[in-house]
Amino acid sequence: MSHVVAIVGAGPSGFYAADGLLRAQPGLRIDLIDRLPTPLGLVRAGVAPDHQGTKAVSRQFDRLLDQPGVRFAGNIEVGRDLSWDALRAGYDAVVVATGMTIDRKLGIPGEGSTHVVGSWRFMAWVNSHPDFARPPLDLSRVRRVAVIGNGNVALDVARVLAKSTDEMAKTDIAPDAAAAIAAAPLTDIYVIGRRGPEQASFTNNELAEMGRLSRATALTDSAALKGEPPASDPTPERLRKAKNLEILRGFSANEAGGKPISVHFLFHAAPLSFDAGAVELTIGRLDVDLVVTCIGYSGAALPSGEDVFAVGWARRGPSGTIPTNRGHSHGVAQEVVAWLAAHPAKDAPGPLAGLAAVDAAGWRRIDKAESEAGAGDGRPRVKMSSWDGLLAAARES
Ligand code: NAP
Repeated sequence: MSHVVAIVGAGPSGFYAADGLLRAQPGLRIDLIDRLPTPLGLVRAGVAPDHQGTKAVSRQFDRLLDQPGVRFAGNIEVGRDLSWDALRAGYDAVVVATGMTIDRKLGIPGEGSTHVVGSWRFMAWVNSHPDFARPPLDLSRVRRVAVIGNGNVALDVARVLAKSTDEMAKTDIAPDAAAAIAAAPLTDIYVIGRRGPEQASFTNNELAEMGRLSRATALTDSAALKGEPPASDPTPERLRKAKNLEILRGFSANEAGGKPISVHFLFHAAPLSFDAGAVELTIGRLDVDLVVTCIGYSGAALPSGEDVFAVGWARRGPSGTIPTNRGHSHGVAQEVVAWLAAHPAKDAPGPLAGLAAVDAAGWRRIDKAESEAGAGDGRPRVKMSSWDGLLAAARES
């Protein structure tokens, strides 16, 4: 009897774990389980819709679903549809690749205000995640936005808000989000870092893109750009930060007013509190209609046990790009294979029997319907944003 492994979470780290397991032990049987009816995790729900190049890795992941022995089981939430104990009893090993999907909190007064939204919620909305189909806020009067954080997620949020309808035309942004952003009377977006620009975790290409937007001008104060990347950083980090400073110097030479929106990069500005229509920063008060906090994520408590192997963000925390997960997941796959080698296959009854899982064929039906919906407008797809719609499409034969 061959071993059977459950991977919980069909996002990048889960797929790379499946890939690593199949490379290390060809013929292994793998059930790739996800609570959504769709696979791809953060690639589908978190990567910005205008970054289709980053989403292209989906094709590689999708091919894994065609591998003999690999089964996709979507619409199955472990902890709701079956317990973690039942899962462990039914598999020879369990890989937990559930990522991190809870917006971290700043822990400052006013954070519960309706005009303060976490980046997970915002990006899930623009990406048609079925749990976040409703807009996080009425954007129809939003002129000024504070984006808290100096990472790539902050740039994603600022860029998606700042881009024009034409710039978003060939993306898979949720149609209602595209319409709401296009109709919002946006004038100013503030990207706010609590430390200096030499500490920002932006990557160079993403920061440079902010200087090429058709309806927005990127601005910053040259006085903030006097620092140097810390000498203690490893060389690639110092080079990245030095390049960021160079890009920001270019922004500091720009003048406001030529385009409808200004994107201001503010540094050394830690948030202290949120009041109605404002954020109080260490550098003073800023009147804003919307705040999007982009300060990282946390995850739910994970099961533990010698046969349970966490991977990806669920193990490392919310850092690193999608390719970072490849090496990490392959390493964890080696640990799993070593565990399996020392333990005979259980030959347990599959715990998914009788559950209403969406299989790979069901996902392909969703994929086809979404791709066809986008084809007329030259979009990669128009995603379905309701659970009912997704499940109905999966079951149509
Ligand atoms: P990140 O790069 O860790 O940035 C988080 C930001 O939040 C940092 O600037 C951090 O400031 C700030 N922050 C944390 N706590 C704060 C507080 N209490 N007050 C004010 N600011 C606070 O994380 P991320 O932007 O969420 O991205 C997560 C990972 O996904 C990263 O590895 C990122 O590169 C990756 N990603 C990549 C892409 C891409 O490649 N295009 C796109 C999106 C995300 P400090 O530095 O001072 O702590």
